[in-house]
Amino acid sequence: NYSFTVPCLLMLVIVLVSYFNKPRLPIRANRTFVILLAVQLLVMFFDIVSSRLDESYKAFDVATLYVMNTAYFVFYLMRIYLFFRLTLDIVHVDVRPNPWVERVLALPFVASVLICLSSPVTGLVFAIGEAGYASGPWYGIIYACSLFYILVSVGALVFNVRRLTRYEFDSALAFNVILLAGNAVRYLFPDLLVMDLFSTIAIAMAFLGFLNPDLFTTARGLAFNSRGFRLLMSERCALDDYHVLGVALQNYHHERGMLGGEQMDEAITAINEWMQKRFSHVVAFYLGAGRFALAGDGRTDWDEVRRKVDTRFQISWRTTRGPLHFVVTFAYVSSESGLGTADNIINSLTIFLDNAQQDVWYSSGGAINPMSIREVDTQVEVLRALERAVGRHEVEVFLQPVMHSATHELAGAEALARIYDEHGEIIPATQFIPIAEKSGHINRLGEQVLEKTCDFILSHDLERMGLEWINVNLSPVQCLQQDLVDQFKAVLERRGISPKLIHLEITEQSMVDYSLLSRQILALKDAGFQFVLDDYGTGYSNLTRARRYPFENIKLDMEVVWDYMRDRDELVPLVLQGFKQTGCAITAEGIETEEMATALAEIGSDYLQGFLFSPPIPMDEFVRTYGAA
Ligand code: C2E
Ligand code: MG
Ligand code: MG
Repeated sequence: NYSFTVPCLLMLVIVLVSYFNKPRLPIRANRTFVILLAVQLLVMFFDIVSSRLDESYKAFDVATLYVMNTAYFVFYLMRIYLFFRLTLDIVHVDVRPNPWVERVLALPFVASVLICLSSPVTGLVFAIGEAGYASGPWYGIIYACSLFYILVSVGALVFNVRRLTRYEFDSALAFNVILLAGNAVRYLFPDLLVMDLFSTIAIAMAFLGFLNPDLFTTARGLAFNSRGFRLLMSERCALDDYHVLGVALQNYHHERGMLGGEQMDEAITAINEWMQKRFSHVVAFYLGAGRFALAGDGRTDWDEVRRKVDTRFQISWRTTRGPLHFVVTFAYVSSESGLGTADNIINSLTIFLDNAQQDVWYSSGGAINPMSIREVDTQVEVLRALERAVGRHEVEVFLQPVMHSATHELAGAEALARIYDEHGEIIPATQFIPIAEKSGHINRLGEQVLEKTCDFILSHDLERMGLEWINVNLSPVQCLQQDLVDQFKAVLERRGISPKLIHLEITEQSMVDYSLLSRQILALKDAGFQFVLDDYGTGYSNLTRARRYPFENIKLDMEVVWDYMRDRDELVPLVLQGFKQTGCAITAEGIETEEMATALAEIGSDYLQGFLFSPPIPMDEFVRTYGAA
């Protein structure tokens, strides 16, 4: 029964056309897929031809029948093996570096092929006798081989489930299940040539799930997108061989607003096209927001690439509405930075390009400002240290005392996160917090700081030390987590600690009018946490906004304190009085001298914090110093 073959061929043609019509990423899965498509066509060809011949076997000589049937079985086995290799490629398991693993995994395939090849002599899989084609005693080896590879595939999938998106996992599982079903149907109804149909469906599923070039190209179809970038990077990471030059258009959002999206898109397409054509062995990606990535390996001289890109950007880009000129910034990462995972590469690249894009925005003049390799390296180092500390639960918490301004006695403490670099040196919080916020590590970091602060509260007698509360910093990025409130509540409930003991500090800069943020603040407030406005007076001071949120305490930023000490104007005392009248307490930060302590107490600070009393210190030191009091 050949009736399945026609729809199969049609389906294959659709896949072939959409597959070869677009740019394809240089990844293993694509190479395997191309071979699989060729083998699928060969299997179908030999399947039809050999079945036809077998039907009228008397008209042909035995040799032809043997050749055709053997060819069919060999390609059939090859298809099984290729589906298996495709699954491995999809889950980013590369067996090539371990030749022994590769050989063992290929063994059932190779053995089955040899047995098939021996069939004309041994008749093990099939034989051509007086009555024509007949299955041999070892015919079952075909099923055994299929079953083996499908089971290993499913095992590999389940084992690596965390590396895949839900959709990828589902489609990979589905195509293996379809192959399994195909085998079952073939076993039960050997007369139907259904396996080709099932294989074609499996191919179509693999195509739709992972290999469709549309998944990896931008809307205009010309450039590879960030998803493609992630995929290529995860493969290159496994081989520990990647070099990426990030290129960012300065002032992208501003210019996009001015020029309009259409002209900008046109320019971006032109840039991408140029990048793709200009360099061989380099793949160009558009990551969005005016950022490009050129990825390749050690063959390429990356300084040279950067120079060429730089030179090209000296002249303008042609669009239908006139030429456009851009200033670019660069960032570079390679396997030598030891970032380890595709996520890390993407995060660090984003961080560097982000910094670069912003830096130049502020440094007017518009000169090209390539981020130096050293600068990039420090940031990579910070990112690595963060990853390490957060992953191993090694974020340390230091405590800095906060004093009553009237008595200079302990009132509370601020918990400040500390992480260390490879040499055990402290990395400044001002350096790693922004990186943690951009890379998303801030969520787990913040949770650890809260946990460790709570552990401290649980195992010490706060009252004896004179501690009324401990302040924990809350980044606005943390507030973007939907489950923040539950997460924080759980940390306290697990230890039976009252939220009244925790004051959450949130900086004023972050007080953007963002509904989720205020909702989170109110929900945390409902859960019993108190709020402190941190760094008041820097950047975006806004009285009405500050009043709209339920703050217990306002922390005057140290810049404001120091300014006031240089020039005692009327404004600071007035602002403080205003806050006090609405029931807010005031803390002055950065108190380094007795003189400052006195001056700030005079104008109404209730609490003082600064090096005069103590810098932030490790928890045990804090207990030694204040525990005895
Ligand atoms: P912040 O919350 O305003 O913390 C006060 C900073 O001022 C601390 O810097 C502290 O060491 C420093 N400081 C305190 N007294 C004095 C003084 O008298 N003179 C001078 N020159 N500095 C003083 P640190 O620990 O480096 O933290 C910097 C910032 O990093 C913090 O500013 C806070 O915004 C952020 N940060 C620290 N830990 C965390 C955390 O666990 N989570 C979040 N989200 N942010 C944190
Ligand atoms: Mg703070
Ligand atoms: Mg502060």
